[in-house]
Amino acid sequence: MKYVDEFRDGTLARGLAAAIRAEADPARRYAFMEFCGGHTHAISRYGVTDLLPPNVRMIHGPGCPVCVLPIGRIDLAIRLAFERGVTVLTYGDCLRVPASDGLSMLKAKARGADIRMVYSAADALALAQREPGREVVFFAIGFETTTPPTALVLQQARALGLANFSVLCNHVLTPSAIQTILESPEVRQFGTVPLDGFIGPAHVSTIIGSRPYEFFAEEYRKPVVIAGFEPLDVMQAIRMLIRQVNEGRAEVENEFTRAVNRDGNLKAQALVSEVFELRRSFEWRGLGQVPYSALRIRAPFAAWDAEVKFGLDYRSVPDHKACECGAILRGVKRPSDCRLFATVCTPENPMGSCMVSSEGACAAHYNYGRFRDHAPDNGRSTPPATIRLAS
Ligand code: SF4
Repeated sequence: MKYVDEFRDGTLARGLAAAIRAEADPARRYAFMEFCGGHTHAISRYGVTDLLPPNVRMIHGPGCPVCVLPIGRIDLAIRLAFERGVTVLTYGDCLRVPASDGLSMLKAKARGADIRMVYSAADALALAQREPGREVVFFAIGFETTTPPTALVLQQARALGLANFSVLCNHVLTPSAIQTILESPEVRQFGTVPLDGFIGPAHVSTIIGSRPYEFFAEEYRKPVVIAGFEPLDVMQAIRMLIRQVNEGRAEVENEFTRAVNRDGNLKAQALVSEVFELRRSFEWRGLGQVPYSALRIRAPFAAWDAEVKFGLDYRSVPDHKACECGAILRGVKRPSDCRLFATVCTPENPMGSCMVSSEGACAAHYNYGRFRDHAPDNGRSTPPATIRLAS
C-alpha cells in the first residue's frame, strides 16, 4: 500500500477484523497497551475498538507528552514568566494544561505573563534572534521524536553565542516509562492491569529504532509490535500481538517497516547524545519519580539551560483530588471512570492533562467514544455499517 487512504480502507478493515476474531481464542482474554497517544487517538477516531471481539481489550498508556507533564514543571514556566519577566514559548497544547492555583500557562498569559505559542523549537530560536533585548525561554516537551529539534536549536544558540535564549528541558524517554509500567504493583503484584503486550510507538521508533524494545520482550516476556498511526496499522499490530500470545512468543515485531528499522536514526541519536544526558530521576504525572527517564542539558550547554541560568528549584505538586489522570496514565482506569469526565471536565475546560491534547485518553474518548459508553454491550454490537473508516 502506498497512499494513506489505503491504510483507512473500510473493506480491508472489515477483513482484518474478521481475521482478528478468527485468531482470538474465545477461551482467553487479551489486553494490549498502546503506549503512544497517537495510537490512542487513532483507535478512538476510527472506532477500532468496535471492530475487536469482546475478549480483546486495549489499554491506554502514558504516551501523550502533554499528559505526562507534572504540574510542577508547568509551574516552573509560569514562575519564570511572572517572577523573572522572561518570555516563555511553547507548543499550543502545553498552554492549556492545568497548573497550581487554578492557573495554566494560558490563564497566566491572560493575567499579564508573556507566554506565547510556537510551532517549533526553531521558531523560539528565531524570536530570540529577532529580539535580543528580550529574555526568551523555550519550554521543551516531548518524547524522543521532538528531542532532536531541541538539541539542534541548543547547538545553534551556542554557535551564535545567543545570550538571551535558553531551554527549559522536559524531554522524556519511552523505554523507561514502559519499564515503570511493567514494574508497577498494578501489573506485577495485584494483576489489576493485565498486560499481554504493547503496541510500540510509531514516530518515537523512527528515531530510536526497534532495538530498545527487545529488552521488554526478553526480560518481561511481553511481545511488542511497533505500528504506524493509521487504523489498519493498528489492527494489523493487534493481530500480530494475538498471534504471538497464542503461540507463546514474546518478540519485537515491526509492522511499521515503511519508516522504522532496528537501529533508528543514528544521526539524530548522535545529535541528542551530544547535547543531552540522562537525568537521575524525573517526575511523570501518574507514574511519580521515574529513574533515568528524562534528559537534561549537558554542562557545555549550561548557559542555554534555563534551570541552571535561572537557578530553578523544582517543587512537586499533587494533582487535583478528583482527577483520575494518574490512574488513566498507568492503565488502571478508563476516562469514563472519572466522575469529572464530560461534566466538569471537557476539552474546552480541562481539569486534568488527559483532556487537553487530542492524543490524551480523556480527550480522545470525549471526542469519539463517549456515546458508546451507553450503548448495549459497550458498543461492541455496533453493526459493520457504522464503521467510521473510509471505504
Ligand atoms: S476527565 Fe478530566 S479530570 Fe478526569 S481524568 Fe480525565 S482529564 Fe483528569
